[in-house]
Amino acid sequence: MNFLEERIVKDGIVKEGNVLKVDSFLNHQMDIALFEQMGAEFLKRFEGREINKILTIEASGIGIACVVARYFHCPVVFAKKSKSINIEGDMYIAEVESFTHKNKNQVIVSKKFLKGDDHLLIIDDFLANGCALQGLISIATSAGATVEGIGIAIEKGFQPGGQIIRNLGYQLESLAIVDHMDASTGKITFRQQE
Ligand code: 5GP
Repeated sequence: MNFLEERIVKDGIVKEGNVLKVDSFLNHQMDIALFEQMGAEFLKRFEGREINKILTIEASGIGIACVVARYFHCPVVFAKKSKSINIEGDMYIAEVESFTHKNKNQVIVSKKFLKGDDHLLIIDDFLANGCALQGLISIATSAGATVEGIGIAIEKGFQPGGQIIRNLGYQLESLAIVDHMDASTGKITFRQQE
C-alpha cells in the first residue's frame, strides 16, 4: 500500500451510497504533510510534461491543488460554482452534476485566467462518475488550452469516471484507486498500481 492508501485504511470511513468519507485528513481538516507527499508523487508521475498552470474546482480540490502547485511552481485557477443563470463578463462555462450533493451547478472560469497557450494539470480530490472532470476538460478545451495530465487523490474505480477519462486519451493518475468498499464491514480494496 502507498502512503495515501494507508491513510485511507486508517482514517477513511465507508458510508452507504458509495461515499468514502475522508473528512479528517482531506475534505474538512486537511493534512498538509500528506498533501505535500501527493505533490511530490504527482511531480514524479508527470515528469517531462510542461505544465504552467493547475486547474481545479471548488471547494475541496483547492487545498490539494495549492500544495501541488508548490511542486510545479505555477499558479492555480479554480472553477467557481455559480448559481446565477446570467453570468456577466467573459467566462468559460460548463455544467457539472455533483456526485455528493446530487444537484447541477454551472462552473465558471474567467477568460482572463485561461489562455490558448496554457498547459494544464487538472487536480481534484475524488473521481467518481467523472462529471467534475468532464466540466473542467470542457472549460480547458473552450480556452484552447492543452490538458497535459489529470491528477486525482482518490478514484473510485467501481464508478465509470476513470474509464471514461482514460478512454478520452488523457494521462490520468490517481494516487489511490478503490476497487471495492463495503459500508457494512468498512473493508476497502485498492487496485494494484506499479
Ligand atoms: P464525479 O464528478 O467524478 O462524479 O465526482 C467528483 C466530485 O464529487 C469530487 O470533486 C468530490 O468532491 C465528490 N465526490 C465524489 N465521490 C466522493 C466520495 O466518495 N467522497 C467524497 N468525500 N467526495 C466525493
